[in-house]
Amino acid sequence: MSADSVHPVDIVHHQASGQLDIGWSDGLQASISSHALRGACRCAACVKLRRDGLGPTSPDTTRMTELNPVGEFGLQLCFDDGHDRGIYPWPYLRELSSTHASEA
Ligand SMILES: [Zn+2]
Repeated sequence: MSADSVHPVDIVHHQASGQLDIGWSDGLQASISSHALRGACRCAACVKLRRDGLGPTSPDTTRMTELNPVGEFGLQLCFDDGHDRGIYPWPYLRELSSTHASEA
């Protein structure tokens, strides 16, 4: 897909507000809340919950505790509810960025 050549150039995690700002090589700027990221988790458990219409649910106060790079693949995000199984590939973060684009 065409997003292959687009990559993140700037990633800032605002611990206090829980916002994750991502700047992309094509100029797209996004600010995604921890809450939204938690809800978008694609690990097997969360996918199942979503399929069953049960969630995943998280309060607005959800914060990320860790962001770990996963090679060239993407990011592993850990949340303060103890959930640390979410792997977010770059193309998926790009997709989320498109729906959470900030006015630049
Ligand atoms: Zn999950």
